[in-house]
Amino acid sequence: MPPYGAEAWGMDIAIIGGGAAAVGVLDALASAAPARGSIRVFGPSPHLWRGRPYGPDLDSVLVNAPPAIMSIRHADPGHYGAWLGGRGDAYLDERLGQPLVPRAVYGEYLEQTAEKALAVLRERGRWTEVVAARVVGAARSGGRLVLRTEDGGEHVADRVVLCVGGGRPHDHYGLAGAPGFAGDPYPLAGTLENVAPETDVAVIGSGLTAVDVVVSLAARGHTGRISMVSRTGMLPHVWQRPGAHRPRHVTTERVRALLDDHGAVTLDGLAGLLRAELADAGEDFDALLADLRAAPREDPVGRLRRQIAAIDAPEIGRRVLQETSHTVGPYAWRLLADDDKDRLRALFRVATSVASPMVPVNAARLLELFDSGRLDVVRGVERIERVHGGFRIDARGPDTRRTSWIAGRVVNAVNPPPHAIGQDAAALVAALVAEGLVAPCPSGGVLAADARVRIVGDLAGDGPFVTSGIPGVAAQGAAAARAVLAAAP
Ligand SMILES: Cc1cc2nc3c(=O)[nH]c(=O)nc-3n(C[C@H](O)[C@H](O)[C@H](O)COP(=O)(O)OP(=O)(O)OC[C@H]3O[C@@H](n4cnc5c(N)ncnc54)[C@H](O)[C@@H]3O)c2cc1C
Repeated sequence: MPPYGAEAWGMDIAIIGGGAAAVGVLDALASAAPARGSIRVFGPSPHLWRGRPYGPDLDSVLVNAPPAIMSIRHADPGHYGAWLGGRGDAYLDERLGQPLVPRAVYGEYLEQTAEKALAVLRERGRWTEVVAARVVGAARSGGRLVLRTEDGGEHVADRVVLCVGGGRPHDHYGLAGAPGFAGDPYPLAGTLENVAPETDVAVIGSGLTAVDVVVSLAARGHTGRISMVSRTGMLPHVWQRPGAHRPRHVTTERVRALLDDHGAVTLDGLAGLLRAELADAGEDFDALLADLRAAPREDPVGRLRRQIAAIDAPEIGRRVLQETSHTVGPYAWRLLADDDKDRLRALFRVATSVASPMVPVNAARLLELFDSGRLDVVRGVERIERVHGGFRIDARGPDTRRTSWIAGRVVNAVNPPPHAIGQDAAALVAALVAEGLVAPCPSGGVLAADARVRIVGDLAGDGPFVTSGIPGVAAQGAAAARAVLAAAP
């Protein structure tokens, strides 16, 4: 406990969750160097500061973005690159021309950044504590908040920052507990350990997590059939080599100008900015749109092949969309009317595949596996059920033809949608709602309903409709730290 009373002490800040978002908040608090009060972090994971993605795992599990957009210090985009230094040379993705490290290495960066922030805060007189327990309750108490942990502990706080992430995959086919079914693929080191190389494996999903599973199976010398089974069968787009172009039209300033000039921001207005950006570069907006619209129908392997061929292509269109979906996107999203938000939500899969592309090294590996016949994508999966000898999978493809086969193993690689309330956060969120401290958002997630609560990451109901990456949580974390400190006595 802090050694003296709260008034002389200053403000007690609680950060709930020990992943990347929490590191961003802590680092921003340390940069602002508040001298009084306490900071308590609740992080139940055995791999504190690494959250769900960045714990120890196989070397084939890579970060999916270059260093320039993986800094957890929002005010310093070069922070992660500087930490990585020459170590990055060992992890160069030749096609991208950028280092892409195993996610466990990035986890070291998060860990060291957090530990350094705690040390700075302590040096400056802040009392800090890490509580290795899940928070399951919250209540108002005499102008302050009391947080309850699963071991019955109670902790008083003046400000609470929720950094609980989006949780683990849902069990869409009711397979939990079935031998041979992995409900959460991470860490893949454990999930794949006992998968015999000749087993037929079905990977549920065709997004980035499914790509992780496939390339990791291949890295272990898997020889059996691997099938990515999903409703759409759409693969993530492929990263293009970063170019020198900096957006001049699709910028926060131009979005703000739309608001000032027209009193509203619409999807058509945003499309106009992209059209202008492309026109300046001599590119055709309608051609880009037509290509994106074709994604759900196009043969995924043919599209992958085209995307790999376009890694070095000079066109800026997809690069601008990909970059600005994380930079300008969150700001623009909040200004859109509900019907425009719905139009975008209807494009969730395509938008996600553009905003979060796969890295070239994985794309090339996937294509090799497709070409060798060891990997396929099955669209239109309808049912997966446990049967004698494994799992029976039934699908009806776009041509309405039925397919069905038996896989020995099934790995669930479907992440929860943005704004999902994770399993570990459910009790806490219910308590916060009951106390009127947060309010459920009709489209998912929650909104702060009390100035003492801030939300960082995918739980934030007003966050963008695509999953937050590191730049998003770093920006939100810095904003939450600023807001908390602005209220300090
Ligand atoms: C597999 C995967 C790979 C990814 N790779 C990248 C990438 O390479 N680059 C990128 O930019 N983005 C990537 N992302 C996006 C990712 O969402 C962010 O990078 C980041 O991890 C989000 O951090 P977070 O702290 O919000 O959530 P999380 O990482 O999920 O951390 C939340 C933490 O809160 C804890 N928690 C939950 N409930 C409670 C509770 N009640 N009490 C206490 N603690 C609680 C959890 O145990 C967890 O440790 C990836 C996402 C996934 C799922």
